[in-house]
Amino acid sequence: MPELPDLEVIKEHLERVLPGQRIEGVELLRPLVVRNLLQGDFVSALEGRELSGVRRRGKFLLLDLESGEKLVVNPMLAGRLHYCEPKERRQKKTFVILHLSGGMDLRYVDAKAMGKVYLTTDPNLIPGFARQGPEALDPELTLEAFQDRLRRRRGEIKGVLTNQAVLAGIGNAYADEILFRAELYPFRKRPSLSAEEVERLHDAIRSVLSEVIVTLRERVGDEIDVKVRDFLEVHGKGGTPCPRCGTIISEIRARNRLTNFCRTCQPGTMIAG
Ligand SMILES: [Zn+2]
Repeated sequence: MPELPDLEVIKEHLERVLPGQRIEGVELLRPLVVRNLLQGDFVSALEGRELSGVRRRGKFLLLDLESGEKLVVNPMLAGRLHYCEPKERRQKKTFVILHLSGGMDLRYVDAKAMGKVYLTTDPNLIPGFARQGPEALDPELTLEAFQDRLRRRRGEIKGVLTNQAVLAGIGNAYADEILFRAELYPFRKRPSLSAEEVERLHDAIRSVLSEVIVTLRERVGDEIDVKVRDFLEVHGKGGTPCPRCGTIISEIRARNRLTNFCRTCQPGTMIAG
């Protein structure tokens, strides 16, 4: 699932190429993922419009139209944007294609069809958008502000980190990476964390996410539809040695998702419930 660092790098790329281009044609191949929050027809609302900017908020990517509307993409598990030549072969699960005045296509592809493409003038009308907490890399999210946001949360720390109302942008993969960096067991209840551990977590959020953005900038380049995850330290690395201590990395399916961690570097015991 694209998370803050993935979407940030995609945003940076699209920001370089999209603004100033006009949408000359729209192919709505599968309307399933489209949520038009405006009156009228999705295709005719877009045709002839000019793209003016690209932004990111949490796990949402916002394409601004000069006329004031926004196309807001929430890729969920498997959504991808593909910026390519029109002659490039269309992937099977292509839902929407924008033909752009610069001669390229912007395509939304989604193997699981769980993502959404919204058209709206007000992103706050999008489910889950307005209730997002501060960006995980917001410079104003100081240690004190972070402690404040955590104080009311009583659940497991991984669940707290991936709760978009607490912090926007962290999903399953980078939560595992952050907790590994902070040397915290993912299923520890938040109230059991000491002040020193909360500080370690705050540091790890900053360092992991900003390092990953640098790595992805180099690795992804213009190929924004390709997911690069092979450099992660623990997530997706179950059964391989921990890069820090050599213990075999654990893989647990709990709370409906896969969690990877090192039992030596991140000691703890899961409490049922
Ligand atoms: Zn280890």
